[in-house]
Amino acid sequence: MKTYKIATIPGDGIGKEVVPAGQQVLQALAAQSKTFDFEFEDFAWGGDYYRKHGLMMPEDGLDALRDKDAILFGSAGDPDIPDHITLWGLRLKICQGFDQYANVRPTRILPGIDAPLKRCKPEDLNWVIVRENSEGEYAGVGGRVHQGHPLEAATDVSMMTRMGVERIMRFAFQLAQSRPRKLLTVVTKSNAQRHAMVMWDQIALEVSKEFPDVHWDKELVDAATARMVNEPASLDTIVATNLHADILSDLAAALAGSLGIAPTGNIDPERRYPSMFEPIHGSAFDIMGKGLANPVGTFWSVVMLLEHLGEIEATTRVMNALEKITADPLLQTGDLGGTATTVQVTEAVCEALSSA
Ligand code: ATP
Ligand code: MG
Repeated sequence: MKTYKIATIPGDGIGKEVVPAGQQVLQALAAQSKTFDFEFEDFAWGGDYYRKHGLMMPEDGLDALRDKDAILFGSAGDPDIPDHITLWGLRLKICQGFDQYANVRPTRILPGIDAPLKRCKPEDLNWVIVRENSEGEYAGVGGRVHQGHPLEAATDVSMMTRMGVERIMRFAFQLAQSRPRKLLTVVTKSNAQRHAMVMWDQIALEVSKEFPDVHWDKELVDAATARMVNEPASLDTIVATNLHADILSDLAAALAGSLGIAPTGNIDPERRYPSMFEPIHGSAFDIMGKGLANPVGTFWSVVMLLEHLGEIEATTRVMNALEKITADPLLQTGDLGGTATTVQVTEAVCEALSSA
């Protein structure tokens, strides 16, 4: 029997509701498995921790996570604390500390979901967005001078390195190659950003030579948004910079029906450190504590976590259970137009798992 060590970090807001729900699904799965089990350790980091200690997580927090097989994360964000503090103090600290340079965001329209694209068939939208997760526009390079003075100036430098671009490009080509259509779109803005984005394009061309069976094209980020809406079936795997993919993946989640459904994995492809899985939504304080949060994004993140652990059969089982649940209008939460609660959806998924 293999025991996987899983860290849970609920964080703030509805993260505290959806992460325990995700843990419950993993427990239901383990209760039936003869080959694997989970050992959970919970870390109460985030806004409340910050109010007590002045930090979002302890200085040596990464050491407590280092020996885990994976991390299940909720959300970092608190209305009382500036966003850049909550983000850099917790989520980005883990992503950067563990060099989780590939952020992977699958998007499809699950059964029963009323998605906004009326001109396409649900199966036309089946994408995975690969976001560069370690540098680029969010490298943290920049500064602010002459504060309060008319000459005040501030910069955020988008820094791209050959190593950073090569590794994300290779990851994206490999992922595209593993999918049935073997199709990759490299998103760029090299008409306007004439240094880093031109290097990005050049490296895409170089890496493409290693993958002659992958069909690939380039698209400017502005045109990519229109193409996602007008020709969703022309896309499959998409790779973009940290900022561009951040924006494109929110659009993707909305096109697939709700922010509450979409999952993401922050992956260290070299497996030197634990990877981290989380729903893409934020802390959503407006619905916190009301039992209204849709846990499906977290459950789908659990599917990605299981896939990363190599538990492929379990991956299929949870995904099947999820698709059964979204197809039932009585089990849809408010963001999908229904009235189901977090607890009802969670219990239904656990039940579907035990009856499967
Ligand atoms: P953050 O600042 O951490 O991003 P946020 O308050 O901006 O948090 P988001 O997660 O970005 O919240 O979501 C925007 C809105 O979408 C929320 O205010 C909420 O109403 C809705 N929403 C997001 N996630 C869910 C979910 N899992 N279930 C139901 N509604 C959701
Ligand atoms: Mg938000």
